[in-house]
Formats: sequence, C-alpha cells, structure tokens
Amino acid sequence: MPRLVMKFGGTSVADLDRIKNAAHKVKQEVDNGFEVIVIVSAMSGKTNEMVGWVQETAPLYDAREYDAVVSSGENVTAGLMALTLQQIGVPARSWQGWQVPLKTTSAHGAARIEEIPTENLDAKFAEGMKVAVVAGFQGIADDGRITTLGRGGSDTTAVAFAAAFDAVRCDIYTDVDGIYTTDPRIVSNASKLKKISYEEMLELASLGAKVLQTRSVELAMRFKVPLRVLSSFDDDISMNAGTLVCDEEEIMENNVVNGVAFVRDEAKMTLVSVADRPGIAAAIFGPLADAGINVDMIVQNISEEGRTDMTFSCPVDQVLRAEKALNGAKDSGEINYHGLVSDKDVAKVSVVGIGMRSHVGVAKQMFDVLSREGVNIKVITTSEIKISVLVDRKYMELAVRALHDEFELEHAT
Ligand code: ADP
Ligand code: ASP
Ligand code: MG
Repeated sequence: MPRLVMKFGGTSVADLDRIKNAAHKVKQEVDNGFEVIVIVSAMSGKTNEMVGWVQETAPLYDAREYDAVVSSGENVTAGLMALTLQQIGVPARSWQGWQVPLKTTSAHGAARIEEIPTENLDAKFAEGMKVAVVAGFQGIADDGRITTLGRGGSDTTAVAFAAAFDAVRCDIYTDVDGIYTTDPRIVSNASKLKKISYEEMLELASLGAKVLQTRSVELAMRFKVPLRVLSSFDDDISMNAGTLVCDEEEIMENNVVNGVAFVRDEAKMTLVSVADRPGIAAAIFGPLADAGINVDMIVQNISEEGRTDMTFSCPVDQVLRAEKALNGAKDSGEINYHGLVSDKDVAKVSVVGIGMRSHVGVAKQMFDVLSREGVNIKVITTSEIKISVLVDRKYMELAVRALHDEFELEHAT
C-alpha cells in the first residue's frame, strides 16, 4: 500500500475539537487507500510554557533534563490523536520517539536524526494497523537519553519518516494555507505560491521563515521527498490545496525574487582594533564556536597600521555568552582588541530567488529601495540566490514591506 506522512502543527492540535478535525483528514487519506504515518506537535503554547518552566527552575539548565521536560507535549497529542482515530473506526496506535526508535545524536536541544529503523511500524502495518501516530520533535540518543530536534523540529521528524518509509509525499498541516512570498502576518498582501523549489525554501527557512524548520527542507531536498504545506482549517486536501516544495525543474517560470524573509532578534557585535595577522579570524571565531554561538554574517574592515575591526552578527540572546567568550580569550592572551561594541537592536532582512542566478541588478534594486525609505544598511551578505542586510530593528517591517512591493511579490505565483 502507498504510504503518506501527515504532520499536524501546534495550532492544528490545539484542543480536542482540532484533534478531531485533524483525525477526519487522516481518515479521508486512509479511505483514499494510504497507510498513514501521522506526526504530531504539542498543543500550541505547551512547548513554550515548558521551556519557561525549565528556565525558571535552572537558568543554566542541564540540557538532558530540558529535553526530558519539553519533549513531553508531543506525547500527549500522540495518545489523544490515536484515541480520536480509534473513536472514528480507524485502527491506530501511538508511538513515542524512543519506541520507534528514532535514533539521534546526543546534541540535546538540537539533536540530529541518525536512523529510523522501520521494522516496528512495518510489523504493525502488516497486522492491519492503518495509522501510526508518532510524537514529533523527539528521539533517543545512544546512551538512552531522550533528545529533541530543536524548535519546530516536528517538521523534520515528518520528512525523515517520509524518507525512511518511502512515502509518496509529506503533507505539513498548519495554520496558513501554504507558503507565501513573505510572512502573511507582517504583509497582508503577501501571495501564496503554488510551488517553490527546495533551494529557495531552504534559504527562506534558514533566513527566518519559520513555516518549515530548515533541517526538514534539507532532508526533503536530499531524499527527494515531495513536501506540501497546507491548512488544517480548510476542507480541500486535494492536490489543488497548499504549496508544493519540489525540484526547480518542475517549476516553469521562476520569478527573480520569490520571497522576503526576516529575523527580528539579531545583534551586531564589533571587535574594535584587533591585530590584523594570519590566524586572527580563527582566534576570534574559535572561542565563539566553542561557546555555541551561532555566528551569521562576518565583516572585516580594511586594515590600517596592522589593525582592523571585525564585525559579526548572532542571535540577540547569545550576546552575553559571546561577550564572555571574547573577554575570556582576551584575558588569556589569545586575542587583543581595544573595544567590544554590542548593538542589540538589529534585524536581518533577506530577499530570495533562484532567478538571481541569471539576473543582475537585484542587489542595486534592493539597496535603492532601502535608501529611498531612509533605512540604513549595517551589514550585507550575499549568496547565489539571496541577499541579506542587517538594519535597525525598528525599520524591519518597513523594509520587508518596501521590498515586497518593489519586487511586485503581491502578483507572484
Ligand atoms: P506549526 O505550529 O503548524 O508548526 P508554525 O507557527 O511553526 O506552525 O508555522 C506557521 C507560521 O509560519 C504561519 O502562521 C506564518 O505566520 C509563519 N510564516 C513565516 N513565513 C511564512 C511564509 N513565507 N509563508 C507562510 N507562513 C509563514
Ligand atoms: N513542539 C515543538 C516546538 O514548539 C516542536 C514543533 O512543534 O515542531 O518547537
Ligand atoms: Mg512549526
């Protein structure tokens, strides 16, 4: 029998009525002839609440216990979904990550999936089970401890199951009816895309569009899993619904720019006057990596009299740890700088489009718009299919809207 993976995010399982609604969609696919693996998130708000409890209990918490706590929201919804399916006559049972077992690295809080053996679920499908409901976001490390895959990680669980079980498709049910040219909560005339390439979606996700966890798109691209995003609140679940993330060859016309993404809470840190010598970048970014800082953009100024400024960006909640790491490296004599300036009020805005590969002038157009709007650009980075800028946080939404207008994304398809 063909297999299908259906993932329901937090708002889609927020209460018993919503779980019922989701279960009916699952039943429809069973009636369509599929064996279904359902991946569920925790009810909306529950993971945040538990993260808060952990932080309040122990600010410098043991990540293994963090995972023990925050993974539990998915256990509740998995059991409730299996019960709801049974109530409407669908043979179903629930599985926690460790029961599958979904094996991961031991990087607690951000574990990576290593293996999903299929035997246990296969045996149950062979016995007539129609739906396996699996708790998303969680797995088990070699040492037997429970792990989680990072916030939004149920998307990644879903794609990994689709790859492991050779599913025809992975459907991600959420609170929007597809992938838009930008977050529709910020830009009301954002338009829904019919299709988007893996490459573009990967950039959008990693640049802040949290509709899919970045890692889930990476896996879908690597294992060629057709990935669809659609609303759990709409009745239509036929292939007309939602947005398909697929190979770029399947898309006839590519817009030059297909989306605008943003990250609100960034920080810009500058090391003033460091010695410009071979090895200086390694000496600075080594201790930052050891401290687990997610350094993003990096700019080194021109050198004058053997000294230079080094600027980088990172998430704003990592500034304290970054300062500590850099001051530590200074104290131990690994690096030497005259000042450390942290600007905690910046945001990153990016435009993404595969068409940029063959189309020049997008950067100029982007900078012109921002200048016209009076938005100062603090740092710029580019890749083949994206341009990102760091701007003052208070101008972030203005910049997103202006860029969305400039590239006529309200007409994108
Ligand atoms: P779930 O709980 O189902 O996993 P998320 O909140 O993680 O849902 O993701 C869905 C949200 O992603 C939407 O409500 C929307 O605000 C946001 N979002 C950000 N960028 C985009 C985009 N380009 N297209 C659609 N939604 C987006
Ligand atoms: N419940 C987890 C979170 O809120 C995982 C997920 O929903 O994807 O991050
Ligand atoms: Mg999500």
